[in-house]
Amino acid sequence: MSINQSGWRPTAPEQGKGNVPASVTGNKALMLEEALIFEIGDSHTTGVDFCSPAKAGAQTGSPPSRGNKLGALARKAPIGLPGLSEPETVRHYTRLSRQNYGIDLGFFPLGSCTMKHNPRLNEKMARLPGFSDVHPLQPVDTVQGALEVIHQLARWLVTLTGMTSVAMSPKAGAHGELCGILAIRAALEAKGEGHRKVILVPESAHGTNPATAAFAGYGVEDIPATAEGRVDTAALKARLGPDVAGVMITNPNTCGLFERDMREISDAVHAAGGFVYCDGANFNAIVGRVRPGDLGIDAMHINLHKTFSTPHGGGGPGSGPVVFSAALTPYAPLPFVEKQGDQFVLVEEETAGEHHAGSFGRMVAFHGQMGMFTRALTYILSHGADGLRQVSEDAVLNANYILRSLDTTLDAPFGPSGPCMHEALFSDSGLAAGFSTIDIAKGLIDEGFHPMTMYFPLVVHGAMLVEPTETESKAALDQFIAALRSVAERAKAGDPSLKTAPHFAPRARLDETLAARKPVLVWKDPAPLAQAAE
Ligand SMILES: *Cc1c(COP(=O)(O)O)cnc(C)c1O
Repeated sequence: MSINQSGWRPTAPEQGKGNVPASVTGNKALMLEEALIFEIGDSHTTGVDFCSPAKAGAQTGSPPSRGNKLGALARKAPIGLPGLSEPETVRHYTRLSRQNYGIDLGFFPLGSCTMKHNPRLNEKMARLPGFSDVHPLQPVDTVQGALEVIHQLARWLVTLTGMTSVAMSPKAGAHGELCGILAIRAALEAKGEGHRKVILVPESAHGTNPATAAFAGYGVEDIPATAEGRVDTAALKARLGPDVAGVMITNPNTCGLFERDMREISDAVHAAGGFVYCDGANFNAIVGRVRPGDLGIDAMHINLHKTFSTPHGGGGPGSGPVVFSAALTPYAPLPFVEKQGDQFVLVEEETAGEHHAGSFGRMVAFHGQMGMFTRALTYILSHGADGLRQVSEDAVLNANYILRSLDTTLDAPFGPSGPCMHEALFSDSGLAAGFSTIDIAKGLIDEGFHPMTMYFPLVVHGAMLVEPTETESKAALDQFIAALRSVAERAKAGDPSLKTAPHFAPRARLDETLAARKPVLVWKDPAPLAQAAE
């Protein structure tokens, strides 16, 4: 049932539960149903009173009359946008926002996403008008403070990673991957090695890695994983050769394990003339403890929105600066912030003889995500070097607490080979016939938890990847563990009610595959009101 401003628009009747009748509104207590904005507004309504132009026609959609001055530009057909008053608009979006789940509401164990608390201090700093109100085209001498933030953050990122330089402009992890691969391509072309056309990617990689390599014009070849969940170093070395441009390796990897052979892999790739890209999305597990530069890495993106606590989810804004080794630094993208004397300047063009001489160009129109830079620098400064080290230690401790609390209930394929890093990985092995990871995820929703990452990484059947981060208390972890244990026991016992979970959510099992494959992006009125009411 959905609600129209001017009355009800009945849809499928709601079923009551037991002796309790369904509500006539479709609402469940103060959880309100909300229709699409197109269903509650119509194009004849507006929240603003306009003076009618003489013999007006444009506003109602009828042909222009002699009275208006728009001539042929006057709209001939209705605009098709819903009109709502201000209070209706506020309610619409507030109701929708209450159906969302976010890190400020509860535990968000999405593996590989580092859904940590976003400290409010970061928000306060990012909202200072000197940062939030600057315009990217303002004269450089009026934005010295903003440039200093970018410059200071860049220095921290270079220091924490042990690399040579950093490109701040990429706007997400995947964008950073593209940045790194384009720098590798520029470096190879500068050496006359543009014929290297293959990028090696481990089986456990995030989908963005092969997608990036393919997008940049490379062939992608898989490197198998060992039974322990790490890159098969021997297989990788055997594949190196004159056609290989480089490798893309995630460390810690998406099985939640540290790639212990990283230095050996980097040396072998370099000896074979290739470059090493590291997917640094999981940097939270090693920040303050491992410097990727010491592992022979040439380029790595850092998800400020994961490791450095800037908000994410729902599409952004992200920020994915890329750190570079000395070998790749000349090819990094523009712009750069540089300190010259006591002035900060924006280097926006290749300058011969300087370290950006071979830059592959620009990735974005301006300089990157100022709000994210301010939040990330605030986070880094408020934690300090010792605090950042404790972040990774606590993140790893929390993940191991989850792994060891649940590895007798759920199958933990790599559990026997030792502790994990920042995330705990389980499989669907041992569930009753016909039960799978999706049933556990849906059961968790009834318990008030956002599900973990499911069916990824692909190297584990029915994978469940749980990343608690360091910002959850032991009490929060214990509650989650109790919930997941209970749901897992039901899945092992074949409890049929789990197959139809969630029972308490406004919507239960949507056809997510159909929604992804055939998204309906344009709203069409299913039936005129009069018909629907019959
Ligand atoms: C999150 C993530 C990415 C992509 O980062 P975005 O900012 O979402 O583009 C890439 N690789 C891994 C391992 C990730 O977890």
